[in-house]
Amino acid sequence: MKKKIYIADLTHTASGLTSITFPLGTALVTSYAKHICNDSFEFRIFKFHDQLTRAISENPPSILALSNYTWNLEISSKLSAWAKRQNPNLIVVFGGPNFPINKEEKLLFLQQRPVIDFYIENEGETGFAGLLMKLEEYNFNATAFKRSQEPIANCTYLNGEEIIVGGIARIQDVNIIPSPYLTGILDDYFNLPLAPLVETTRGCPFSCTFCADGLVSKNKVVAFTTDRVRDELYYIAEHVKNVDEIYLSDLNFGMYKRDLETAQIISKLQSEFNWPARLKATTGKNMPKRMIEIAEKLKGSWITGHAIQSSDAEVLKNIKRSNISVDAYSEFSTYMKKLDKKAQVFTEIILGLPGDTKEKHFETLRYAIDSQTTRIKSFGCMLLPGTEMASKETRDKYKLVTKFRIGAGGVGIYKFGEETTPVAEMHEIIVASKDMSFDDHVSCRVMNLLLEAYYNQSQFEEIFAAIKMMGLSEFDLVKHIHEHNELYTPKVKEIIKKYTSALKENLYDTFEEAEKMALRPDRVDRYISGELGFNEHLTCNGLLYFNMEETLSIMLEALRMFLLEKKLLTSSVQDYFTQLGNFILCKKREFNKFELLLEKSFDYDFEAIDVLNYKIDPRNVKRLNKPIHLKFFHNNEQKREISNGLYLHRDHTDGIYRLIYETRLQKWYRNFQQSHIPIEFNDKNNVLPDTAKKIREQKPSRRSWEDIS
Ligand code: SF4
Repeated sequence: MKKKIYIADLTHTASGLTSITFPLGTALVTSYAKHICNDSFEFRIFKFHDQLTRAISENPPSILALSNYTWNLEISSKLSAWAKRQNPNLIVVFGGPNFPINKEEKLLFLQQRPVIDFYIENEGETGFAGLLMKLEEYNFNATAFKRSQEPIANCTYLNGEEIIVGGIARIQDVNIIPSPYLTGILDDYFNLPLAPLVETTRGCPFSCTFCADGLVSKNKVVAFTTDRVRDELYYIAEHVKNVDEIYLSDLNFGMYKRDLETAQIISKLQSEFNWPARLKATTGKNMPKRMIEIAEKLKGSWITGHAIQSSDAEVLKNIKRSNISVDAYSEFSTYMKKLDKKAQVFTEIILGLPGDTKEKHFETLRYAIDSQTTRIKSFGCMLLPGTEMASKETRDKYKLVTKFRIGAGGVGIYKFGEETTPVAEMHEIIVASKDMSFDDHVSCRVMNLLLEAYYNQSQFEEIFAAIKMMGLSEFDLVKHIHEHNELYTPKVKEIIKKYTSALKENLYDTFEEAEKMALRPDRVDRYISGELGFNEHLTCNGLLYFNMEETLSIMLEALRMFLLEKKLLTSSVQDYFTQLGNFILCKKREFNKFELLLEKSFDYDFEAIDVLNYKIDPRNVKRLNKPIHLKFFHNNEQKREISNGLYLHRDHTDGIYRLIYETRLQKWYRNFQQSHIPIEFNDKNNVLPDTAKKIREQKPSRRSWEDIS
């Protein structure tokens, strides 16, 4: 009988899925191992703990292999410890980037987790297949093999106090790995609300010290052939159900010529299958013209941009990162906006990198806005094991102050067989350094939230376009809101307080302290329900979005003061902004209520102003002689996309906030036209989408995945 090997990429499920993509990494490792080992084992792939534990109980495997990321280390550790208690001969293998690079730290990691027999590093395919062949040679006696201390490429293990680190090996031609899609081993996953993920390239030529892909061993870029990528994409398009998006696993999509061919294939799929509506792929640096060409082909379905992390030369030097030039970045963003006025051009910025200060962070935000970026995603800085930035040397040099946070959505009480096990994931983050105090850190994060609520997702872009035409800075207006919290309404004050409290309170000096707090019997349910340990950035941004009337009133008052200071305030300018505010509310509030038809009269010709992208100086706008009556509505394509989006995120405690954060909301704001013109719907879609019906019927939160598998 063939030996059974179970391989899993677990996600938490108690508060919703922490990972919403297909388990592609484990599927690739499985495909390669099957190929190399001549199909001599029986493999099964898992994503959900309940399916895995049931399989372990009913059909015990010889080997259990689990992926290790920041979001699943603890659930994988506790599940494998339970599995080993059921069968002490079970061989447990872990693999993934969440592992130290330095030998002493590897030793400590493995000593602290004795359940792990072998750790697979770098490319998992080689390490795992190499290990299987060795274990077969030793008749699956792991202890006997460990005693031999034979090194295996990409594999690390302990023999007593000794650590054996195999060398690093890269697969020269990744195309020898059989495609997990085309061989059908991922077919079951099309029935779940998970987004497909396709790997197009591996490796990154850059060396950012905060990133696990910046290591020298990963600098060479290798690619899957265009034919294979085409076949996989077509296969997915033919099988996908109710999920509009696809993820490309490519660390620099758009940087290489072949990416144009991939874009061409996706564009063809969009014509033939009306799918995917959205493509998610990390954008490459330094090739703005090629990215423009790709974006043109994908007609706004690819959210493009450049992660700058910081615009400060010293910070960039400290993290060994070179950014796209200022001019090229600005040219790219301007072009993208011309191509599609709803286009989103994003950037990513990390707060608190070595050498960062409040002033440098604010200048980075200003730089991003002045470069026409429409979406600024700001993150706190997580210290990832396996990165140069997590080394003792970097910590000491910049006097990094770090704390442990309980990961949002990463707490659960799970049943492994007959045992009930509480689990919590923890992350280490930088909260201060020799260059930035903790108070400055909190102040910067509040500014990040205000940018999220006011600037990102084009919620108030019409107002920003107008003040720009008056020669004023968009960044300065948001900074004005940041500096004048006396303008905040009680509700908005409450949301900001919730945000700062969450920033300050969910911090612990040690991993153990954080874990103890998360799993305390009187607190654990509150973490699971999302009352504690929630993602404050997603949640508070969502709360601000659903209080748009109040955020708008604060903005209009801040704008009034701002214009007064600049001596630009007149009654007609104020009237224009007030009516523009009402117009924004009708278009953008509560996008999820897609059956609402809103109507309102205006004294300005917003149809004509819309054609100008709101780039109009309010001092020169004339009121209409007769008010214009407008109605605001979602079309059927929007209804379908919104309901599919709600479906994909439906099980998470902060699902709708997550959707707001991760989606290009511009596409989901209401259309408008004069009230006397009948609304024409496309007959093809003139029914409530199936997924919208499903959302209505379903229970608010799912705790087990067994009933849909
Ligand atoms: S952050 Fe991006 S560019 Fe830098 S090393 Fe990582 S993947 Fe490469």
